[in-house]
Amino acid sequence: MALVPFDDRDGWIWLDGQFVAWREAKVHVLTHGLHYASAVFEGERMYGGEIYKLTEHTERLFKSAEMLDFEIPFTVAEIDQACKETCARNGLTDAYVRPIAWRGSEMIGVSAQETKIHVAIAVWEWPSYFSPEEKAKGIRMCWAKYKRPSPETEPVHAKATGLYMICTISKHAAEKDGYTDAMMLDYRGYVAESTGSNVFFVKDGVLHTPIPDCFLNGITRQSVIALAKTKGLEVVERHIKPEELAGFTECFVVGTAAEVTPVSQIGEYSFTPGNISLSLMDDYAKMVRRELQPA
Ligand code: PMP
Repeated sequence: MALVPFDDRDGWIWLDGQFVAWREAKVHVLTHGLHYASAVFEGERMYGGEIYKLTEHTERLFKSAEMLDFEIPFTVAEIDQACKETCARNGLTDAYVRPIAWRGSEMIGVSAQETKIHVAIAVWEWPSYFSPEEKAKGIRMCWAKYKRPSPETEPVHAKATGLYMICTISKHAAEKDGYTDAMMLDYRGYVAESTGSNVFFVKDGVLHTPIPDCFLNGITRQSVIALAKTKGLEVVERHIKPEELAGFTECFVVGTAAEVTPVSQIGEYSFTPGNISLSLMDDYAKMVRRELQPA
């Protein structure tokens, strides 16, 4: 399949308060965000004309910016509205929504106090991060070479571009070896998350998921915990050692892009997508489309 580059498409991108033609939404090569990773972003999905947990995503964008010591020059309500308008302007009711905020070009150097803060919102059709076949069988993952860093090292709760450097390296290494994704441990050696989603395990009908104390407490993760509880499932948030994976029967990853995706393998450990993973996958799909009461 030929790739359609993301800078060469039809449509409209919201940039600093205005719509610009897709191909004209450009930044200069001397942009602070590009050189020093002073950029934060979001990933959201619109289902049937409504962006799932829109305000939570926008609020996280603002918090991420604050953690990187910059202020977004709009209100949360303005960005919420702009996300909706960008979908409408592009004629999309089912879309992936990508807001991003970054430091501009007024200063290039570690100090960047006077840089202008820019915000852009782009939307595009993105049906499923993993194919339906992959989802049904469960994806295969290996262990990532890099670990999620300690909160003393980086602003680990920000959805900041710089924190994705180790994710891209790890995902590439996984793909080169024939895996779909990589599972990352944290700096202490506990199971953390994949390169773009949170993880859950099942043992004796109980869900176990790592405590998000050094990585993103995903909005999908929080929704799935609430959903599982409404189904009467027990959810245990705790530190999980990699060798404990031998005792889990099911595993799945969750995220805005990944939604709920069963996992069949992580390194030397195997899982079989079962009732709990598959029913949460279906219920999550219904919930985001408002076919099921929100948890
Ligand atoms: N961890 C990482 C590294 C991610 O990129 C994402 C996707 N934003 C998540 C977890 C899940 O977050 P959410 O459910 O809010 O999309």
